[in-house]
Amino acid sequence: MAKAKFVGNKETKMCHVSGCGALKNIKKSNRENFSSCKIAQKKGYKCCKLCGKK
Ligand SMILES: [Zn+2]
Repeated sequence: MAKAKFVGNKETKMCHVSGCGALKNIKKSNRENFSSCKIAQKKGYKCCKLCGKK
């Protein structure tokens, strides 16, 4: 399985690029991995504005 490039926060419904500083504040149980931000958006997530820039 490929490494997840994006991590969603189930609590805030925000999707972060893996490596985003905000991720360390997310509990493991609140994390959801995505291979792309678009997939996360389909599940109701919003992309983090700090790290979501391409
Ligand atoms: Zn972020």
